Amino acid sequence: MRSTSLLSTSTLPSLSPDPLDILQQVFGYQDFRGPQRAIIHHVLGGGDAMVLMPTGGGKSWCYQIPAIARHRAGQGTTLVVSPLIALMHDQVGALHEAGVEAAFLNSTLSSEASQDIERRLLQGELVLLYAAPERVSNPRFLALLDSLAQRGLLSLFAIDEAHCVSQWGHDFRPEYRMLSVLQERFPGVPRMALTATADALTRADIVERLHLQQAHPFISSFDRPNIRYAIVDKQDPLKQLIRFIEQEHAGEAGIVYCQSRKRVEEVASALCQAGIDALPYHAGLDTAVRQRHQNRFLREDALVMVATIAFGMGIDKPDVRFVAHLDLPKNIEGYYQETGRAGRDGLPAEAWMAYGLQDVVNQRRMIDEGPAPDAFKQVMRQKLEALLSMAESTDCRRLRLLSYFGEAYAPHADQAAQAASNDTLRLNCQSCDNCLDRPEVWDGTEAARKLLSCVYRIQQQDGLSFGAGHLMDVVRGKVTDKVQQYQHQALSTFGLAADCSEAQLRGVMRQLISLEALSVQSGDFPTLGLGPQSRLVLRGEVPIRLRVGASERPRKPLRSLARTSGMPVDKSRPELALLSEQALSLLASLKQWRAEVASAHNLPPYVIFHDATLAAIAQAAPKTPEALHAISGIGAKKIEAYGGEVLRIVGLFQ
Ligand code: ADP
Ligand code: ZN
Repeated sequence: MRSTSLLSTSTLPSLSPDPLDILQQVFGYQDFRGPQRAIIHHVLGGGDAMVLMPTGGGKSWCYQIPAIARHRAGQGTTLVVSPLIALMHDQVGALHEAGVEAAFLNSTLSSEASQDIERRLLQGELVLLYAAPERVSNPRFLALLDSLAQRGLLSLFAIDEAHCVSQWGHDFRPEYRMLSVLQERFPGVPRMALTATADALTRADIVERLHLQQAHPFISSFDRPNIRYAIVDKQDPLKQLIRFIEQEHAGEAGIVYCQSRKRVEEVASALCQAGIDALPYHAGLDTAVRQRHQNRFLREDALVMVATIAFGMGIDKPDVRFVAHLDLPKNIEGYYQETGRAGRDGLPAEAWMAYGLQDVVNQRRMIDEGPAPDAFKQVMRQKLEALLSMAESTDCRRLRLLSYFGEAYAPHADQAAQAASNDTLRLNCQSCDNCLDRPEVWDGTEAARKLLSCVYRIQQQDGLSFGAGHLMDVVRGKVTDKVQQYQHQALSTFGLAADCSEAQLRGVMRQLISLEALSVQSGDFPTLGLGPQSRLVLRGEVPIRLRVGASERPRKPLRSLARTSGMPVDKSRPELALLSEQALSLLASLKQWRAEVASAHNLPPYVIFHDATLAAIAQAAPKTPEALHAISGIGAKKIEAYGGEVLRIVGLFQ
């Protein structure tokens, strides 16, 4: 039984346009986070804004709250440009749950449904309208906007996932280019662009393409303190992945990224065989299958999605506990964006990548052989280089990531390590593999010089270049058929690095490719030749430092780390508190109830209530609507719609 009068609405300033009132009443949270308040006030003052905030930072409310405030003040509708249909659907669903009039226009709607939405739009009923970018360049749609603008009912433009406008972003969408029309046609309407990625180049490109030169930039820290980063040597990647999931993330939701469709299928079925619930997702699957898999991922607790990068943009699922890469992404933006899908809820999560020589060779080849103009390729190479240097680094990964985004990271100085080694000051984020377990480093400079001289001798003798495997055999002094065929045992460099293991030499090659001392040459299969920087390394001017057998070292499980290492986890989060047996049973019942409601509304469960909110209810066991309202994440509409049911379930456990 639902009650509509649980909380007297007359006690609330029901239609206040004040942003904090809206946050509290509509969404049920007490305070703004980080720069949200400043952004909202800036936009409400009529200014344009460029909002750079990491995933999970709280971008949505930066435009939704101004939208509500302006609508309450009679200023009409906010148009949100969003690239993904699934995202629009869930966001609009979440707004409805909070009692906000919102709708989307996209290709999934029937023409009657579209017309109905257009009618409500023209009557000024909608607080927010979500639309795909291609719609915005449609003359009919622009005419609708004209009609609103003429009556002062077009209040704000929010361009979500704004990096899609830039060819330097990892998600370039040509339709985003049309969005400059908004400023040209409606110069008086404030605009905000929001994104969770932006290196300096992408950022400048967004400003330029969207004519946001006058926009105030709001740049938050890009650090995701609850994500732990780890990059391991790729040896037997499937086995490594299965071990990683079984030991550290059993029964949890995660995403595994692979480069090709074929690989996605293989990995998904290997995980299933190992007893891990996994589904594939890639652009080669039928739309209906893709949709079904995505829905299951969003709606279930413990599913692993194995996917190409086609999956994930705008995936709002808050409790993704790990993101694993079995292949190297193209650049740091891609890596950051993909790993950023872990731990939106602020609880500990993990970004794990297995990476090897073949990855470097493949990525390099894809750039070199691609159709892009040379200047573009050059930028792509530099971006790959930055990612490789992070993957190879023996110091803090977080520091590397953040400095790529132009951010100076100020972590704790690792005083213990410093005192022990009498080293220079070492920074320690306490939650990346290199900081938690400082890698041993060996000096590979000599090995690198030997390898390069060997490549040089071979090129001199045969005028040919060879693949990594053969080069390794020659420099390690292995007499194989191929060595004999080319008489490479007669080279002065044959067996020069017999003391190095294959794994060591692979590491050396990766670094040499990343430094452009070796270049990848195309043919039937990739071969390695001397690159433009080889002289510097041959002369010993560039030191090559490598980690010792990183993949072989035992890893500390994430959970024990969160407790012992001072990993910066928000301890006030109720999931982390120990719930009593009774509270746990209550939580289970609440989750069961939530699953039923979510399924009846065709929405993901977290749109009804977040895990954190349910856990807080289980812990506080409120008896009155007022006590329920005091819990974070329960706005007035949710009290109205669900308060009675929730209190009834709580009552069963008292
Ligand atoms: P983004 O779009 O930046 O990835 P969202 O807008 O989806 O982030 O917000 C991420 C999560 O943070 C959401 O679950 C939201 O409820 C929560 N959140 C955002 N702002 C606040 C706030 N001021 N107080 C409490 N929770 C917040
Ligand atoms: Zn670190």
